Amino acid sequence: MTHQPEDAVTAPPPEAVAAPARFDTLPLDAKLLRAIVDAGYETMTPIQAKAIPIVLENRDVMGAAQTGTGKTAAFSLPLLQKMMRHENASASPARHPVRALVLAPTRELADQVAVNVKTYARHSQLRVACVFGGVDMNPQTAELKRGVEVLIATPGRLLDHIQLKNCNLGQVEYVVLDEADRMLDIGFLPDLQRILSYLPKSRQTLLFSATFSPEIKKLAQSYLQDPILVEVARPNATASTVEQRFYEVADEDKRRTVVQILRQREIRQAIVFVNSKLGAARLARSFERDGLRTAALHGDKSQDERLKSLAAFKAGEVDLLVATDVAARGIDIADLPAVFNFDVPFNAEDYVHRIGRTGRAGASGIAITLATRDDARLVGDIEKLIKRKIDLEPFVIEDDRPRRRHRDDDEERAPRRTPRSEFAEDGSRPAFVPSAPPVRAPRQAPKDPFFDQPYEADPNASPVWEKQAAAPVAPGSRSSISRFIKPKRKVAALLGGKVPT
Ligand code: AMP
Repeated sequence: MTHQPEDAVTAPPPEAVAAPARFDTLPLDAKLLRAIVDAGYETMTPIQAKAIPIVLENRDVMGAAQTGTGKTAAFSLPLLQKMMRHENASASPARHPVRALVLAPTRELADQVAVNVKTYARHSQLRVACVFGGVDMNPQTAELKRGVEVLIATPGRLLDHIQLKNCNLGQVEYVVLDEADRMLDIGFLPDLQRILSYLPKSRQTLLFSATFSPEIKKLAQSYLQDPILVEVARPNATASTVEQRFYEVADEDKRRTVVQILRQREIRQAIVFVNSKLGAARLARSFERDGLRTAALHGDKSQDERLKSLAAFKAGEVDLLVATDVAARGIDIADLPAVFNFDVPFNAEDYVHRIGRTGRAGASGIAITLATRDDARLVGDIEKLIKRKIDLEPFVIEDDRPRRRHRDDDEERAPRRTPRSEFAEDGSRPAFVPSAPPVRAPRQAPKDPFFDQPYEADPNASPVWEKQAAAPVAPGSRSSISRFIKPKRKVAALLGGKVPT
C-alpha cells in the first residue's frame, strides 16, 4: 500500500538515537567497518545515527538532508551491508547484477557519491560503477557488461544505457533518489518516472532531498512505501562550525584582499565563487599570476576538465578553485578550510550552498564574502534568509606591501610559483605564502579590466531595496549600505577576530 508522505513516521530526535555513536556499535560486516576506519571516520554524523538502523530494518526513508551531512554513508553503508550476502568472486556478469541503483542530478554529485561508495566497499567483492553523460559511453558499457552490484547514475545517461541494453535493472532491490529536489528542478521527473517503471515493484526506496516541496512529496507518495522521515538540521544555513565574515571591499581591491586573507589566516586551500563563467576564467588567470596554483571550474569547461580540476584540488595540487555556482553544485571536498564569495551571489540561496562547501561533517571553516556598496540589496537578502544580522566590516589592505602597477606589468612577468624552498622537507606544502609582486603601484591602479566592470543588475530586483535605501544608517557608519548591516571598526578586520555571536 502506498502512503501519503504526510503520514510518514518521523524518526526519533537525534539525542534518542545518538547514544551508540560509534560505527562499531552497528551490526556491520567487518569489511565495512575496516573501510570506515580507513576513511578516518570515528563517530556517526546525525543523519547516519538516525538513518542507518532504519535502512537496515528494510524501511523506506525520506531523508531531509543535504550534501555535507554524511548522507552518502548514511544510505550506502546499510545497503552495502544488506548486499554482503550476495558478495562473490565469480567472473560471470550474471553473478553481479545491479542490486542497488543510486540516481543523482549531476555528474559531479554522481562521481562524488561513487568515490565514497567505492571507499566503503573497497574490502568487499561488491562492484561499484558510475555512469553519467558528457563522456565516452564505451568504458561505461564495458564496466556494466562485466556486472556491477551498485550503480550510481545520472538519469539521462542511465536511460541511454537501458535503451542500448547495456544493463538490466530487473534485479534491483534498493533505489536511492539523491538530491531529489534538484533532479526535479533540472526537469528529470519524466526520466525518473521512466527509470522507476523499469524496476521491480518490490524494493526498498530511499529519497533524499534538501527541501520537501509539494512535488517532492508527490514523488515520495508515488514511489515510497510507509516511509520514515529522517531529518537533520541543514548543515550550512547556520552551521556553527562555519565562521561567516563580510568585508566591504572595492572591486579593484578584491583579489588583493583574498591574497592577504589567505596569507594572514594561513589558509592552504579555498574555493573562490564568482557570478559569471567569464569572471571565473579571468580571475583564475589573475590568481595564477599572483603565484597561486589555480583552476577554474565553470560551465564552459568540458566534463573531463572539470573532473580533472576537482581531482587536482582534492589532491592538494591546486590552491584555489575559482568556480561558478552551477559548476560547483554538490561538490564535496573534505576539510575545505575556506570559501570566498568574490561576488555576492545573486540568489541568497546560493550563498547557503556556497558556504556549505566548508565546515562539513563537523569540521570548522570560514566563509568570507567581499561586498561592494552596490551589493547592499543582495547582502540584505542573505541576511533575511539566514536570519542573522550581518556585520559588514571594512577591510584594510596592507599598504606597506608592494602592489602591482597594471595589467601589462603582469603580462611581462613570468607567472611566479611558490619557490621550492617554501615546501616542507617531506614535499608537503606549508600554509600559503604568496609571492610579492616586485613593483609598487599607485593606490587606485587598475589591475584587470574585468574587476572594473559593474555588476549586472538583477532584472527582477525587488523594489523593497529602493525603499530601504532611504532608511537611516547606523550611527557612525561609513557606509550607507543597508539598515540591516552594522559596520565595524577597522581594527576588528585587521585583527581578524571572530564575529561575536
Ligand atoms: P556527504 O554528505 O555524504 O557528501 O558527506 C560529506 C563529507 O563528510 C564527505 O567528505 C564524507 O567523506 C565525510 N563524512 C561522512 N561521514 C563521516 C563521518 N562519520 N565522520 C567524518 N566524516 C564523514
